[in-house]
Amino acid sequence: MAEKRDYYEVLGVGRDADEAALKKAYRSLAKKYHPDTHPNDKEAEEKFKEASEAYAVLSDPEKRKAYDQFGHAAFEQGGAGAGGGFSGFSGFDFGGGFTGDIFGDIFGDLFGGGRSRGGTASQARQGASVRTSVRITFEESVFGTEKEISVNTKDICERCHGTGAKEGTSPVKCGQCGGSGQVVRDTQSIFGMMRQASVCPSCNGKGTVVKDRCSSCRGTGYTSSRKLVKVKIPAGISNGQSVRVSGYGEPGENGGPKGDLLVEVYVAQSPVFTREDTDLFSTCEISVAQAALGDTIRIRTVDGEVEYELKAGTQPGTRIRLRGKGVPSLRERGYRGDHYVTFMVRIPERMNDKQKKAMKAFDETIGGTVGRIKK
Ligand SMILES: [Zn+2]
Ligand SMILES: [Zn+2]
Repeated sequence: MAEKRDYYEVLGVGRDADEAALKKAYRSLAKKYHPDTHPNDKEAEEKFKEASEAYAVLSDPEKRKAYDQFGHAAFEQGGAGAGGGFSGFSGFDFGGGFTGDIFGDIFGDLFGGGRSRGGTASQARQGASVRTSVRITFEESVFGTEKEISVNTKDICERCHGTGAKEGTSPVKCGQCGGSGQVVRDTQSIFGMMRQASVCPSCNGKGTVVKDRCSSCRGTGYTSSRKLVKVKIPAGISNGQSVRVSGYGEPGENGGPKGDLLVEVYVAQSPVFTREDTDLFSTCEISVAQAALGDTIRIRTVDGEVEYELKAGTQPGTRIRLRGKGVPSLRERGYRGDHYVTFMVRIPERMNDKQKKAMKAFDETIGGTVGRIKK
């Protein structure tokens, strides 16, 4: 695969370009390379896709921020070698924020001739996002993982190329609306006669109807199949966040790009660690003697056990910090949070006579303990 071009370069705008400038640049490129105007032109198609991808990222403030910081790496979590199962770009969706409508607006302007949204005919539109979810372990959320999930994908029918018409036939102009996709009704209202336009019920606004249906898709124009999709889940992801994989959503309309697949990630709780942002918390039990005398102990971290020099005279509830043993940050590359460990001193619940004696004797040597009632 060729080196990916810089998104700003693709759109031919400066890095400080505002929303309007991006839109303008993309609109002119989309117009120039749109598949409708260049049927069967692979190069134009690639150019169109490249521009669409660049615009999809730069027009989304969150994605643009990530791109400015990390470049293409922000959306290719696997880095250089990852290529393989991923088509197009993928990135994160930090809790919502759909991009579904950006293409609709533009293509509406471009090709729709000012027709209102929800409209008809040849508006190119990105397909809708499709949502799914995946469960991962706590450790997988800390270090990142790759999951293969099975998704139902809709594709444009290959036999009829999405028209829904039988081989050798084409859809015909809708009789009810005459191809406009809209029907106009005059209705009486308190303001007098009102002219009301609505989507044509015969063709659902397409302007065409299928006489003989394609046998492969039964006239729908789409085929569905189950596909295995590899999803890279980045280190540091939190429960409920979504990973965006492009190219596995609903098919686009009239040459628009496919929608995204949004994979919501459910992270299992850990019996050992709790998490707050990028920090981890756990408790560690030590004995009375270890607390009093100090010891070399082993503490469980997400990286495995680490040795720790417990100080003599450690009090119950003492909290220590293990720097950099927390969770990697999604926003700040290379940063890892800390792991806080609270020591719990285990007081023996049952002691034999010998142990009791020893402990009493010890107590006497330090002259009794604070709070004792003198007999
Ligand atoms: Zn078909
Ligand atoms: Zn119609």
